[in-house]
Amino acid sequence: MMLNRLPRRDWTNCLVTIVIVLAACIVREIFLNSLGRSLPYVTFYPAVTLAAIYGGFYAGITAMLLSIMITGFWIIGFNQLATLSTTEWLVQAAFPLLCTIISYAIESLYRARSHDQEKTKQLLEINEELIRQKQNYQSLVENLPFIITRFDEELKFLYANPAFEKMSNRKTAEVLGKRWNEIGAQSAMYEPLISHCKTALATKKTVECEIAHTAPDETKYYHNVIIPESEKGGIDHTVLVITHDLTLQKQMQKELLRLDRLNIIGEMAASIGHELRNPLTTVRGYLQFFTKKEKFADYNEQFNTMIEELDRANSIITEFLSLAKNKAVNMECCNLNDNIHAIIPLLQADAAHSKHTIKLELSDIPNLTMDKKEIRQVLLNLVRNAIEATPSGGTITVKTERINQQVVLYVQDTGPGIPQDIIYKLGTPFVTTKDFGTGLGLSVCYRIADRHNAKLEVETSSNGTTFLLKFN
Ligand code: ADP
Ligand code: MG
Repeated sequence: MMLNRLPRRDWTNCLVTIVIVLAACIVREIFLNSLGRSLPYVTFYPAVTLAAIYGGFYAGITAMLLSIMITGFWIIGFNQLATLSTTEWLVQAAFPLLCTIISYAIESLYRARSHDQEKTKQLLEINEELIRQKQNYQSLVENLPFIITRFDEELKFLYANPAFEKMSNRKTAEVLGKRWNEIGAQSAMYEPLISHCKTALATKKTVECEIAHTAPDETKYYHNVIIPESEKGGIDHTVLVITHDLTLQKQMQKELLRLDRLNIIGEMAASIGHELRNPLTTVRGYLQFFTKKEKFADYNEQFNTMIEELDRANSIITEFLSLAKNKAVNMECCNLNDNIHAIIPLLQADAAHSKHTIKLELSDIPNLTMDKKEIRQVLLNLVRNAIEATPSGGTITVKTERINQQVVLYVQDTGPGIPQDIIYKLGTPFVTTKDFGTGLGLSVCYRIADRHNAKLEVETSSNGTTFLLKFN
């Protein structure tokens, strides 16, 4: 093991050098005094070497000079110098030469070693910096809300970030080195992406595309940026795919569109609803008047049919009027459960008529500010739709629940679900799949939800439909 070198130009360095040389003298005096003027430097070579090891070149030279002086004054004596033989002179002359070589060699060794240490330290620092940067980028890539994947030329997975794991329900380790068709994904889901990746690889140009994945329960929309990569001068070509899930954005756009349509209809309702209702009331009044007249007795049946039809038209107009945007509302603080209890006999009578059962699952919920009549209207419309969708004998569940400060009303049925083609049109006035439907029930519900700052959502599958009214 190398001795640790003392710092240069330090007084302790000089002191240690002197102590080493004196120690060499003492050793010589005690153990080797019989040597006399023969082999004068026997203990000084190790002393100079030790001093050079401790203090480097200058300490070695200092020790050498000290040793020469001690030898001159004390071991040989300056008056004896003239009597020295040629061999003894050679021994004298070899000492400074060898000491210089020893000191220089040790110094060079030190320098080489400290250069190596400096290099190693620098490399370690660079390595640490690289590791830190790698961690920074890794954390960035892994926490981005984008799905990031990289493929080789054969479109086998080279990398997938945690967002991919979440989207695909597959562990990254399971997909690496495999193609899309080997990881059990549906071909409709990846084929368009693969074809765009091939284009990007062939043209060496970035491709942007939007791909829709249609699943039985929901359609997902993804925006992809496909970047072809090639190592400088290398033959390895890869493709980086950055995918952004646009589903929520699309849903919001549709929601806005629906609200927009509702607003237009709402404005129409406010302006023409009354204009229509007034002449209808007059016509109905006259018809009723005619039914009481003897001379029209033969036409009573026709008059009654006309009155019934007018009533139906009137009820449609009443519903249509409740779409008016700035309809006056009567907000008060009450409990949703109490409101449900107030209307449930009516709903049960309606359900019993078609041999359906209504099940209540009401849980403890805080009071809310609402227009009681409007919320009852929502409940009536949703339960009626549920009854109409569920085969006779089925059960409709009306449930309330508190989820994180939010009160949620559920109307659940076991019907066949909402047809895919009208899901995104739900709430648009006059959208109906029923022969005698008005297509206004859900529009009214969305409008009322809007007025209550609540959200009406739907979950539907072939096993049934649930409408959720979420109060904020
Ligand atoms: P209407 O009931 O007059 O048709 P709505 O606005 O109440 O009008 O409903 C619009 C359409 O939405 C219905 O025609 C039906 O196709 C669909 N729908 C609504 N609720 C359900 C449900 N619970 N199950 C299946 N389809 C439903
Ligand atoms: Mg309806």
